[in-house]
Amino acid sequence: MAPKIRPVQTSQDMPHATTVVIIGGGIVGLSAALTLAERGIPTVVLEKGRIAAEQSSRNLGWIRKTSRLAADIPLTQASDRLWAGMAERTGCDPGYRETGIMFVAGSEAEMEGHRRWLASAEGLDLGSKLLSAREVDELSPGGQGNWAGGVYTASDGRAEPTLASSAIAEAALRKGAVIVENCAVRCLSTAAGKVSGVVTERGEIACDQVILAGGLWSRRFLGNMGISLPSLPLICYAFRTAPLEGPSEVAVGGPDFSFRKHADGGYIGTHRAAFGSPFVLDHFLLGLRYLDTLKETHRMIRPILGKPFIEDLKLPRRWGPGDISPFERERTTDPRTKEEIPEQALANLRAAWPAFKDTRIVESWGGTMDITPSSMPVISPVASVPGFTIATGFSGHGFGTGPGAGQLAADLATGHAPLVDPSPYAFVPR
Ligand SMILES: Cc1cc2nc3c(=O)[nH]c(=O)nc-3n(C[C@H](O)[C@H](O)[C@H](O)COP(=O)(O)OP(=O)(O)OC[C@H]3O[C@@H](n4cnc5c(N)ncnc54)[C@H](O)[C@@H]3O)c2cc1C
Repeated sequence: MAPKIRPVQTSQDMPHATTVVIIGGGIVGLSAALTLAERGIPTVVLEKGRIAAEQSSRNLGWIRKTSRLAADIPLTQASDRLWAGMAERTGCDPGYRETGIMFVAGSEAEMEGHRRWLASAEGLDLGSKLLSAREVDELSPGGQGNWAGGVYTASDGRAEPTLASSAIAEAALRKGAVIVENCAVRCLSTAAGKVSGVVTERGEIACDQVILAGGLWSRRFLGNMGISLPSLPLICYAFRTAPLEGPSEVAVGGPDFSFRKHADGGYIGTHRAAFGSPFVLDHFLLGLRYLDTLKETHRMIRPILGKPFIEDLKLPRRWGPGDISPFERERTTDPRTKEEIPEQALANLRAAWPAFKDTRIVESWGGTMDITPSSMPVISPVASVPGFTIATGFSGHGFGTGPGAGQLAADLATGHAPLVDPSPYAFVPR
């Protein structure tokens, strides 16, 4: 089961025309909508299920620059500034706290990886630093792990995924955006070689611009247009503990666990070395492009064979505006929790930080992430379809950058000066 999102009263009526349509009510689409609404641009968000019900409410809430690709860091820094002003901007505290994030290294080889990352981010003014084992203990006391050291960024932080998207959605609604749930977009309409609207399951909306922020589903939407965007599904299993006097406010990532304080006094964690890989046709079609990533991560992957493959095959890859689309067939992707993975993560955590000894898991869930071959998202106009912009493929770290990514997508769609240099996110069709 997914964590419970703070409910939002979304719109009942769908207009016949607007300026920008956003496909997808996750944190990226909603952040784009808030940006546009603040600029007075008529905007409609269409969400096939409930807002934030897929990745954006299920994530761990880490807002991190540490261990991120250097090319993605300027957007993360811009997003940090947006997070810092989010409570005031939305009138609702999404739980943003600059608590610091630390990764601990279980071996000298892992420590070497942290050194390489730090070197790659040199000049970006992150204030990140390598830690000795003693410094790890000072930042999160009471640990028993035998760490080779760690890496730490004090300006990293967290927010609450079950609050953040709702806060952003409510603010966008107040500023005049329309957000319609349970309304899948089937196709784009074009006229004179550019976007002229969208066809939804509830009829058409005319518009000048469309932003696709469809997360996991973007690949299928684009595939129906003959556009190939590489993205594979990967399930992350998360858990929340009962409240406890924890070791630290600092979020900690270990080799086979992670933890960060939750607003309710418990902790949210995951197993950092066990991810579910629902095996689908796209693995055959795209697998070769992931070989480099697989070399480093294959030990962490738990293939899920059989049912996902068949379910995926049953969903159409091509459909027309009058057909029921895959987005209506699967309103919300809700992967089955594999209880043993969160339990194992908690056992690993207890061994490293005995403060977790007496706690228990009160809730666990899975969430399916959209992973690109480079782990970089795509935030870019699509040159072959004027009026069409995509913001997708956030590869398991788009909650932290969501506010900035949404704003950047809005900038690109409307010709506004971009929040950051968009070139690292350009879509290059192959
Ligand atoms: C368990 C887990 C842990 C994670 N931890 C972190 C973390 O700690 N920090 C971090 O930065 N990131 C984390 N992530 C990743 C982060 O959650 C995602 O990168 C981010 O939420 C992506 O936002 P999005 O808006 O692109 O996608 P989503 O939240 O998936 O939203 C896309 C929406 O589009 C809708 N949609 C798709 N197609 C259509 C259509 N045709 N018509 C209408 N609606 C459509 C979908 O229903 C969906 O609601 C984690 C993810 C998971 C699953």
